[in-house]
Amino acid sequence: MSEKKKIALLGSTGSIGTQTLEVVEAYPDQFEVSVLTAHSNANLLIEQALKFKPNTVVIVDESKYKYVEEQLWQNDIKTYCGEEALADVVQMQEIDIVLTALVGYAGLKPTINAINAGKTIALANKETLVVAGELITKLAKSKGVNIYPVDSEHSAIFQCLVGEFHNPIEKIYLTASGGPFRGQKREALLNITKAQALKHPNWSMGAKITIDSATMMNKGLEVIEAKWLFGLKSNQIDVIVHPQSIIHSLVQFEDGSMKAQMGLPDMKLPIQFALTYPNRFKTNFERFNFLDYPELTFEQPDLETFSNLALAYKAMDKGGNAPCIINAANEIAVDAFLKDKIKFLDIADINAQTLDKATFINQPVYEDFVQSNQEARQIASDLIG
Ligand code: NAD
Ligand code: MG
Repeated sequence: MSEKKKIALLGSTGSIGTQTLEVVEAYPDQFEVSVLTAHSNANLLIEQALKFKPNTVVIVDESKYKYVEEQLWQNDIKTYCGEEALADVVQMQEIDIVLTALVGYAGLKPTINAINAGKTIALANKETLVVAGELITKLAKSKGVNIYPVDSEHSAIFQCLVGEFHNPIEKIYLTASGGPFRGQKREALLNITKAQALKHPNWSMGAKITIDSATMMNKGLEVIEAKWLFGLKSNQIDVIVHPQSIIHSLVQFEDGSMKAQMGLPDMKLPIQFALTYPNRFKTNFERFNFLDYPELTFEQPDLETFSNLALAYKAMDKGGNAPCIINAANEIAVDAFLKDKIKFLDIADINAQTLDKATFINQPVYEDFVQSNQEARQIASDLIG
């Protein structure tokens, strides 16, 4: 009889977090929740805790601590608050796997601590690999820790590589839906509203990644994520727009053979595979029907209109702290767009200008990332005014 896998779920109240709990709920003999964390959605965190009975919860927003603690202490669930508690809780002895479903730079420290504590990582929080991919992958290697991708494109690549890990990759193709503004030119995007940008054609996701998909920054971040997950060079990573989101990505091997992973878009599949690898568990997810998709189509990305994608390649090629800088700028710019402080096209401009202005560091260590993240946020905020 195998023991249940004990999961720490960071960002349990979000889009990936809630879908992860659906997966956990479907296999009560396989998984157990040890830790749940959220930024500020206290009511949902409490509801989840009462249902899944974790050992510990963390609410980052300290003003909500008392409220959460009052509801949970009689149930023998420990409550902590603040960023430090979030970074510490992943080291708890009983945890087997840490699923990082929180947004942005905030994922970096908890992921480093989890790797140092020898926990397997299921990584949804791509920003962590964008900011500090070299540091994270080297650390994981030195600790013998596996990082399993949750992002659908990277899960697709990973699934294509099963049984092929000894075969070199010639290149990969990351597929992109193109977002809600695919096919449009810059002039048409001048006065895009928040509501228009938040309408993704194929996926329902958190606000930040939805805007990143509309600007194609998401694909740029994914290119950098892929570089580190699969040890690739820039010229081995291509992006192809595939509006149907059925092929989730492809690998091309050195003999020219290509493998693709496909299926209807549903994040529960990559979430589940990251938790069950190397096994596949039976699901009742809707199955793909070829006749519903008589055409799968492909297009070149428009790097002029969606200049964030070109900027991400530029930052990746520059290396050092450049990806950390554009990530920080982008977090500030997207937040400002969501608060109606800037226009849609300003997001990419702010990202590019911040990369030009921020201090470049060729061989950053952890403290440099902390510093660069702060500096780039300040520069982007000043640009916004
Ligand atoms: P979301 O906004 O729906 O949820 C984010 C979660 O993180 C919430 O629980 C929130 O409380 C928590 N959180 C937010 N800011 C935090 C902070 N500063 N400190 C601690 N906790 C914080 O986001 P999401 O769509 O679930 O995305 C989560 C991550 O997964 C992102 O990195 C995203 O790029 C990645 N991802 C998401 C999808 C998707 O389908 N949603 C697909 C692929 C990758
Ligand atoms: Mg993705």
